Amino acid sequence: MTDHYAVIGNPIEHSKSPQIHAQFAQQTGQAIAYQRLLAPVDGFTDMVHRFIESGGRGANVTVPFKIEAFALAVQRSERAQAAGAVNTLVFESGRIIGDNTDGVGLVRDISINAGVIIAAKRVLLIGAGGAAQGVILPLLEQQPQLVTISNRTLSKADDLVRQFAHPALQTCAIDALSEPYDIVINATSAGLSGELPPLPATIFDSTTFAYDMLYAAQPTRFMQFAQLQGASTRDGLGMLVEQAAESFYLWRGVRPDTAPVCNNLRAQR
Ligand code: NDP
Repeated sequence: MTDHYAVIGNPIEHSKSPQIHAQFAQQTGQAIAYQRLLAPVDGFTDMVHRFIESGGRGANVTVPFKIEAFALAVQRSERAQAAGAVNTLVFESGRIIGDNTDGVGLVRDISINAGVIIAAKRVLLIGAGGAAQGVILPLLEQQPQLVTISNRTLSKADDLVRQFAHPALQTCAIDALSEPYDIVINATSAGLSGELPPLPATIFDSTTFAYDMLYAAQPTRFMQFAQLQGASTRDGLGMLVEQAAESFYLWRGVRPDTAPVCNNLRAQR
């Protein structure tokens, strides 16, 4: 018996998820099929119900449907509640359960794959959109000394700090940043259009670990800028694979080995 899963988004043809889950399934001997589903922008809920009726067991959800997926789920994990968005749906006994694995994906990539300890560190999170919101709770769970959120529109960063109401969280305007941080995470979408957020060079030094959630064949502009200041860098491919592994674990109860999958994806670029 093959169980069916899908990633639902619009656009969706670029998604690497089918490739990632096929490798997880092969590696773990799980009998699953995983497909891309293009939902019309106003047709996400219909698509989910049709997929469930056709026997679907679970789905990943990507842009622009993560907030609709949150609304559709009748039960949501704590990390989905904190993120205000759902990227993983589990269809179980006629119920739709929502989770968010993006944040744990980031934390695993930083702490396990890159070997960078977050506890007691000073972390700068740049951006206050969906990706930033999704990683705040998992980051705080690692007990950093502080997490400063900085965003082009500062009021959005202030809203996040109010929402989480955690003593280690604070905001700072981008143009008021000056001191170096231990870990700098770029959660803006600036890089998608080849732009660099207007960051001061002084937030990096030779001990900084700079992480770009974006991934590309070449180092991103953010990574290049951080490297110029002596920082070590990593792109978001590992986060992508780790969030997929967490979804796979939720669906199948088996944790795949992410390293060979990351290596295969990097080799293809
Ligand atoms: P959103 O659209 O929700 O948020 C975009 C954020 O980027 C906002 O904070 C926005 O600031 C900021 N921003 C956009 N353009 C600029 C600019 N030119 N200069 C400074 N700030 C800018 O996007 P998401 O949060 O969903 O995604 C953010 C990034 O994270 C994307 O690159 C995405 O690909 C990546 N991502 C990677 C994942 C992975 O698995 N590796 C998973 C999820 C996301 P403002 O509020 O002022 O508009």
